[in-house]
This record gives sequence, C-alpha cells and structure tokens, in this order.
Amino acid sequence: MKKWIVKAIQAGSIVLDRSAMTHYKGKGEQITVPIWCAGATDGEHKVLVDTGIRDLEEYRKAEPGVIQTPEQDTVAAVRRIMGWEPEEVDIVINTHLHCDHCGSNAKFRKSKFYIQKKEWEAAFAPLVPEVPFYDSLCYDKNAVNYFQWEFLNGDAEILPGLRVITTPGHTRGHQSVLFHTEAGVVCVSGDICNVAENVNGNLEPNIVVMVPETYESFQRIRQSSHYILPGHEPAVKDGAETFIQVL
Ligand SMILES: [Zn+2]
Repeated sequence: MKKWIVKAIQAGSIVLDRSAMTHYKGKGEQITVPIWCAGATDGEHKVLVDTGIRDLEEYRKAEPGVIQTPEQDTVAAVRRIMGWEPEEVDIVINTHLHCDHCGSNAKFRKSKFYIQKKEWEAAFAPLVPEVPFYDSLCYDKNAVNYFQWEFLNGDAEILPGLRVITTPGHTRGHQSVLFHTEAGVVCVSGDICNVAENVNGNLEPNIVVMVPETYESFQRIRQSSHYILPGHEPAVKDGAETFIQVL
C-alpha cells in the first residue's frame, strides 16, 4: 500500500480560555491555539484536509480572539508548507463545515470536495448554539460548485492508504481523516479532538452537540490511529510531519 506524507499547515491562531478545549478543565487560563489544516501526498495526489477561515473580520464575530498573519492565509500557508498552488490541489476533505475548517474552500476551484452528507445537511439547518460557526458563504453553491462535492454516507476509502471515518459529536456529521504513513496511521481529527487531551484524557471539548457519540468517536480514533493531529493542538509545530501519540 502507498505510504502518505502528512504535514501540519497553520492557518491562524485563536486566543481563548483553555476550558474551551477541555470542557471545564483549565477555566481562567488563557492559551493560544493554532487553526490546523493538513496537506498530504502519496507522491501522486495532492490532498488538503480543511481550509481554515474565510474572512478574518467575519470570523472574529464567532471567535473574538482570532489572529492571522499574512503567511497564515490558507493559500499562502499551503504554498509555504506544501509548495502547491490552489489549482493543483486534487482533493479537499472537510472534517466538518465550521467556518474555521472550510472557510477557504472557494479558493480551491479545481478540487473535488469530500464531506459526510449528514454534515452538509446539518450545516444548512444549524442548531441554535451552532449558528455562529456555520457560515454558508463557505460551502454554498457560490463557494463550491455542487458537482464538485462528493457526499459520503459513513466510513469510506478515498484512495489507497487514505480513509475517512465518521466521528460525530462536535457536529452531527463530523468525520476524521486517516492516512497510512511510514510511522503508522495518522488521524487528522478536526474538532472531535480540539487537542490531544480530548482523546488521550477521554475529555470532551466544549462544543459538543452529541455527548455519548463524542466518547464513541474517541474510541474509534483510539482503535484506528497511532498518531493524531487535532484541530487546534498547540504542541504541534507549523509544517510538522510527526504528531501526537494516541494512547
Ligand atoms: Zn468546529
């Protein structure tokens, strides 16, 4: 089977209370966390997992602590870490459709987009606490041509050595992306794990719409993955190719 190389791509950061990532733990402690995307290649295909934010000022309404340097703009960051132009990206996989994970979808005009059908439907019918995070301008028909979407109904193999598994909890149709690498299976988890402590400490993140499913999703990640790149893990460095061990 082909081995993949996966790299962390930082598309900004957010200053927030630690407890926002780890339920009530760490309340009152301010931390800065990255917004992670990932670039991956098997030597043939160029794959991007998540696309960061759309517009800094707009995202500030949902997350007042957001910071983005010019080199963290998604297109600039993908170019800097992967050396890819946006039109070279073959596949974009969105873990979910929150606006810090699909914000720059519209910049990747030639890509095929993979999302769980359930997430697509949820994004157009957000629950009240989800409203600030679902910005339809990131994924509607003007952002991404409808025919570029591949809607998934559950776990799927996208390419040899590249699978998605459903990991609901943070959102209703959330998925995580698994890459078969030289070191083992790397899980790009999106926000089912904001930080590695969620899976390794069995501790839910703050934004959870399905509580039991969140813990089942942690279990799926533990069963399938050796390493994890969580959606906002501060211990990972920009451009890193090695990630956090799943315990
Ligand atoms: Zn999210």
